[in-house]
Amino acid sequence: MAVKITEECIACGACEAECPNNAIYEAGKPYTIGGEEFPALSEDYTYIAPDKCTECVGFHDEPQCIPACPTEAIVLNTDTPETPEQLTAKKEHLDKVGR
Ligand code: SF4
Repeated sequence: MAVKITEECIACGACEAECPNNAIYEAGKPYTIGGEEFPALSEDYTYIAPDKCTECVGFHDEPQCIPACPTEAIVLNTDTPETPEQLTAKKEHLDKVGR
């Protein structure tokens, strides 16, 4: 995953509506993939489920959540780079199992 939300987040929810993969969740809320539920990844601020973020590959040329954030809390996570091929494969997997 190459996009993450930092502690600059004010939990306004502006990014959630922009995500075509339904990868962004409120603090403390479990995320789901294909109807299966997984524990929340943050109890403190809005978070992105890395298994669902394709950096918008397959939908848009650029991540849609980054410019949507009023506090610039969403940044590329260079610690965990993924190739375009990996991101496309993730998108296709989500197409199959459901977001
Ligand atoms: Fe969703 Fe795109 Fe942001 Fe990833 S980069 S969390 S797919 S809006």
